[in-house]
Amino acid sequence: MEHQGENGVLAIPIRRTGLDRQTPFSFSCMRCLHCCRNKKIQVNPYEVARLAGNLGISTTECIARYTIENSSFLKFDDNDTCIFLGPAGCTVHPDRPLVCRLYPLGRHVNETGEEWFSELQPDERCKGEYSEHETIGNYLEEQDTAAYMLAADNYLKLLWEMMTVAESSSTDEELPEPEECSDSEEDNLPENVEWMDMDAALRAYCKTTQTFFPDTVEEKMRMHLDALHRWTKIYL
Ligand code: SF4
Ligand code: SF4
Repeated sequence: MEHQGENGVLAIPIRRTGLDRQTPFSFSCMRCLHCCRNKKIQVNPYEVARLAGNLGISTTECIARYTIENSSFLKFDDNDTCIFLGPAGCTVHPDRPLVCRLYPLGRHVNETGEEWFSELQPDERCKGEYSEHETIGNYLEEQDTAAYMLAADNYLKLLWEMMTVAESSSTDEELPEPEECSDSEEDNLPENVEWMDMDAALRAYCKTTQTFFPDTVEEKMRMHLDALHRWTKIYL
């Protein structure tokens, strides 16, 4: 079964697909703000941590206040407008999620790491201007997407690993031996920890492994992924 990661805004018709980083493409946004409405904006733990850092709150608080569906999507208001849209535009612009940076492109990655892009059908009121003077690769750089794409790929790999382990444990397939668990780990099983809440997961992991809580969001992500890979082997 092929798994495909969608790093794009959901439920938007695709205008053309199978594009790569060399495909001629450029887009100038006119900031009319229509694209921040009537969309489900997907976020991963790294993106929640970036938003939490922007707002000066923990990921636990950010998830409770600003996300829905197990912290997978940003909340929207009664008018189907993103919770972060203010009168002058995005109130978290420096830390906006990947889908917002990519729009009007969508990014896809399959299980072998192959990447391709789609051009989404823009909102009919979109005033953005298209041209082919540059490439999709240039657009990714302009939108400062590198850290976000790395995070998306890392969490996607983790998700596939979790699904594989969960599928194996629901059949008679032989599972790899669980990793050894120290006594202190057994005393601190993360049963009540929301795994995708980065700060909560790291508090439990640092306590268990007796390590210092990381400083930067990149260090937090690396440790969070280590923790989840480890817990997947032990607990799923
Ligand atoms: S996070 Fe910002 S850019 Fe993204 S949909 Fe919300 S308001 Fe728009
Ligand atoms: S609808 Fe188009 S022009 Fe308007 S803010 Fe979104 S991308 Fe920019």
